[in-house]
Amino acid sequence: MFALGAGVDEILAQLRHHPDMLSASVPLYRLEDTGMARQMQEYATHSVLGWFRRFDDYRLQQQPPCWQPLTAYARDDFTVGILGAGVLGQRVAESLKIWGFPLRVWSRSAKQLPGVTSFAGRESLNDFLQGTRVLINLLPSTPETLNLIDETFLQQLPQGAFFLNLARGAQVVESDLLAALDSGQLKAAALDVFQVEPLPEDHPLWRHPRVTITPHNAAVTLPEEAMDYIARAIKQREAGDTPPGCVDRQRGY
Ligand code: NAP
Repeated sequence: MFALGAGVDEILAQLRHHPDMLSASVPLYRLEDTGMARQMQEYATHSVLGWFRRFDDYRLQQQPPCWQPLTAYARDDFTVGILGAGVLGQRVAESLKIWGFPLRVWSRSAKQLPGVTSFAGRESLNDFLQGTRVLINLLPSTPETLNLIDETFLQQLPQGAFFLNLARGAQVVESDLLAALDSGQLKAAALDVFQVEPLPEDHPLWRHPRVTITPHNAAVTLPEEAMDYIARAIKQREAGDTPPGCVDRQRGY
């Protein structure tokens, strides 16, 4: 079964409440990539380069007008850490490699990605965070990642780190995120996803000067790519092969 227009996390949540909807023996497939990886690469590259070149600071210097060149950041100090090294996390890492930033990923299982340092498992999380200047979230939404990004988590990052959330809002404790921005623990955040969507009009994140918001469209499903993917997967199953993207319902992704 393929489900369009809903994330795997939403479908699994439905199935938890209505287990009779879909027998456990029916495999559930998710759409991998299907044009989304390139969109994620665009978003991540834009954000990382913008922060690296201090365009956020220059924008603030326009009001009131202030002609003041700022000290450039050192590329070697601008380590980008990606939470999740799956289909999208790996492609985002690839796109940032050409800019020469030190790169690291955190996942459940260790990865061998050329030019990228791999951290695996909960026990390596603090080491991963302590060396990460720009944190990009591309984890799936599972019971394990729910509210993972809270005060304790954010405190592990170096002072003045940057945060880009491209994955799911349920993974972030938004009051802790706001506190980290207010204290300067985080210098800026770009957020595509939120606990409640659409983000309520009176939510303080809308008005925070160091926050950039997009309406959960970092990467949208492209219908033609999606249809090709589904048709290919059906043919693979009919031929007795195993197409990629089968969801492990126990694991939650
Ligand atoms: P994926 O291929 O399933 O990759 C998930 C990665 O997270 C894997 O590397 C996995 O580790 C790791 N992971 C899972 N649970 C973990 C845990 N508890 N601790 C450490 N690592 C863990 O997912 P994807 O397709 O790249 O998607 C990533 C996220 O993007 C999802 O949340 C998806 O919903 C979101 N998304 C957002 C948009 C948008 O427009 N904002 C669009 C598309 C997708 P292993 O490799 O060891 O399994």
